[in-house]
Amino acid sequence: MPLSNSQYRAIMRVYDERRFGAKRALDLRKAAVYEKAPEIEGLESRIHGLALRRARMLLAGDDAEEEKARIEMGRLRTERGKALAAAGFAPDELTMRPECPDCGDTGYIDGGKCHCFRREEIRLLYAQSNLDAVLERENFGTFSLSVYDSVEVHPKLATTVAAYMEKVLLRCRRFADSFGTKPENLLFTGSTGVGKTFLTHCIAKALIDTCHSVIYLTAHELFDIFSKNTFDSGNDIDAKEEMRNRVSHILECDLLIIDDLGTELSNSFTVSQLFYCLNDRLISGRGTIISTNLSANMLRDVYTERISSRITNAFDIIPLYGDDIRLKMRAR
Ligand SMILES: [Zn+2]
Repeated sequence: MPLSNSQYRAIMRVYDERRFGAKRALDLRKAAVYEKAPEIEGLESRIHGLALRRARMLLAGDDAEEEKARIEMGRLRTERGKALAAAGFAPDELTMRPECPDCGDTGYIDGGKCHCFRREEIRLLYAQSNLDAVLERENFGTFSLSVYDSVEVHPKLATTVAAYMEKVLLRCRRFADSFGTKPENLLFTGSTGVGKTFLTHCIAKALIDTCHSVIYLTAHELFDIFSKNTFDSGNDIDAKEEMRNRVSHILECDLLIIDDLGTELSNSFTVSQLFYCLNDRLISGRGTIISTNLSANMLRDVYTERISSRITNAFDIIPLYGDDIRLKMRAR
C-alpha cells in the first residue's frame, strides 16, 4: 500500500522519536542503577569488553578461546542479574524497552514492514487522532461499574445489571489479552447508552497500546468508503488509489470495529459489501467487533439470512441491558 513521500517521512519521524525516547529512558534507568548499585557498572563494562574480545576471536577463528569467553560472559550476566535483583531492579532494567519489541521501533522486520507500521499507516490515513483523545477518556482503566444498577434484579438476567456487566467486562479483557492467539469476534447488542461503544473503546485502546492495527468506523463511515471505492472516486487517480488503500486496510487490519450497525440505510449494495468484508476477515482469521442497536432477529431482517447466520456462527454475541448510562455519567 503506497504512501506519499511526506506521509512516509511523517511515519519514520515517529519511529525516530520513539527510538530516541527509548534510549533516553534507558540512560536514565542506567544512571539510577549505577547510583544505587555501583558494582553493576563494573560488571557492565566487563561484559562489554568481553563481547568485543569474543567478536575478535570469532574473526580470528580461535574457537577454544571464544568458547572460554562465552562461558565467562554467561557467568558475568548471571552475576549482573543477581545484583540487579538484590538492588530491587527488574531483570531487563539495563536493556532497551522499545514500544514494539518485534522490530525494535524501526518499523521493519526481515526486510518488510512490521505489523506496527500498519498501525501507524492507519493512524495517518484515518486521522484517528480524535479517536486517540476519546480512548484516553474511555478505556479499561476508566470503565466504572458504579454507573450500572447494583440493586434491582434485572428480569432478563436473574441478577443485577452491575453484576452482569462485571462479567462482560472480564470477557472483554480476555478478548484483548488473548487477541491474536485464536480467531475471535464479538457482537454487542443493546439499546442506546448501555455501554456498547465504551466497551469497544476499551478493547481498541488495549490493542492499540499493544501495537495492533485497529480501525474504528461507524457503519455509516464504512459503507461510505465502500461506496466511494466502487462508484464515485471520479477520474482522480490519487483519490482512487487512496480509496483502494482504505478498503484494503479495512480488510487487513488486525481488528476492525464497526460501530452502530443498523443505523445506516441498508440496500443490496451495503448488504453485499458487508458480507464480503466480514467473510474476508473471517477467512483470514482477523478479528472483528460489531456493535448494534438491533437484536439478532432484526439483524436478519435488515441484513439477510446469509449475513446474520455468518455472524451468529462466528461471533460471540454479548447482549447488554439496563438504562442509558450516559445520563448518569453526565450527572457525576
Ligand atoms: Zn514493529
